[in-house]
Amino acid sequence: MMWVLRRWIQTAATFLSNAYLMFPASRNIYQGRLKSVCTPGLNCYSCPAATGACPLGSLQNFYATLRPGLEQGRLHVGLYVIGFLGIIGSLVGRMPCAWVCPFGFLQEIIYKIPSRKFEIPHVLIYGKYVFLGLFIVILPAVVVDDFGYGVTWFCKYVCPAGTLEAGIPMLALQPSLRELIGPLFYNKMAVLLLFLILMVFIKRPFCRVVCPLGAIYSLFNRVSVFRMVHHPDKCVLCEECYRHCPMGVRFYEGANQVDCIRCLKCYQESCKFGAISYEVAGIRLPSIRTKRPEKEAPAD
Ligand code: SF4
Ligand code: SF4
Repeated sequence: MMWVLRRWIQTAATFLSNAYLMFPASRNIYQGRLKSVCTPGLNCYSCPAATGACPLGSLQNFYATLRPGLEQGRLHVGLYVIGFLGIIGSLVGRMPCAWVCPFGFLQEIIYKIPSRKFEIPHVLIYGKYVFLGLFIVILPAVVVDDFGYGVTWFCKYVCPAGTLEAGIPMLALQPSLRELIGPLFYNKMAVLLLFLILMVFIKRPFCRVVCPLGAIYSLFNRVSVFRMVHHPDKCVLCEECYRHCPMGVRFYEGANQVDCIRCLKCYQESCKFGAISYEVAGIRLPSIRTKRPEKEAPAD
């Protein structure tokens, strides 16, 4: 069953992204060779257990050091990150958000807490492009010191994953760091707390409104090798796909929308009318969907 498979893959990806289990003894982050490789999902570089680099942190570093990098001809690391994200996006679009991102996984788990659920105004989903442009590209590249170096604005002022995975654990591991706690840390704790609360009531609020990594992958959704397909002739507008979608996507309004993370839940579990399929490089793949009896279209 696809849902179970996805949960296993999400669990394995979360573990593999954070497999440095020596950190209680070393009391520091892993700094071995794997750290030069980006993970496809959001996973803080400074998490004591992290085995890879966060692509968003690497991207901000690229723009924060763009001026000295241009002067010294050192752009290869940044170009590697852009190429890495470009290759993943071109192949599968936003699929990593559903299958391998630890922070996306956390949001899905927290949303299972029983409570009244809410939808967000649709316009907010464009917020992630503002965060991408402003906090990942413009501010790190433009606000620089006398030597031309900027800072990683998203990591420093916004990222709740960084606070959860790195800020809090590092304070526990290194008591001397507690003396450095100031307004910046409290602000980031407030952002984390806000999102942890929102996750109970709203489907993946961080992914849909803020995540610049999801914003980058989403740009490829309509042109990637893997694509979802909607068959309007079979669709009866029952909205089952929308009700079960972890991103609140109304699939019947069009396939490959920016917030579709290709979890395949609508295809595998929701649509009983065969109105959803997927293709690779334009070739429709044989159905792996569990065969269910076709239902009559609901009467108006
Ligand atoms: S579940 Fe299938 S039939 Fe129902 S609205 Fe979605 S695509 Fe259309
Ligand atoms: S539209 Fe379908 S494949 Fe896309 S995120 Fe929603 S349930 Fe998953």
